[in-house]
Amino acid sequence: MTMQTASATVFDLASSCPSCGSPRVLRLDLQLTDGTPVVFTSCRGCERRWYVGPDGDLAVGDVLARTVKPGKGSVPARGRG
Ligand SMILES: [Zn+2]
Repeated sequence: MTMQTASATVFDLASSCPSCGSPRVLRLDLQLTDGTPVVFTSCRGCERRWYVGPDGDLAVGDVLARTVKPGKGSVPARGRG
């Protein structure tokens, strides 16, 4: 009978790179502009970089899209014509 202690990690992350299998991965806890917590992971073996969010893997493009502030600001008030 074997019992494993569950680590209190926020996300279920692989301890090694899923691409090359290298255990030398760098993990950084980040937070997007909209408040979504993500983990940025960078592999020292194959230079692969990816993000993991609460819902799973996130595409880099999606992360960048969330970090960019909305382009549409306040609508300029209509002057008297
Ligand atoms: Zn790798």
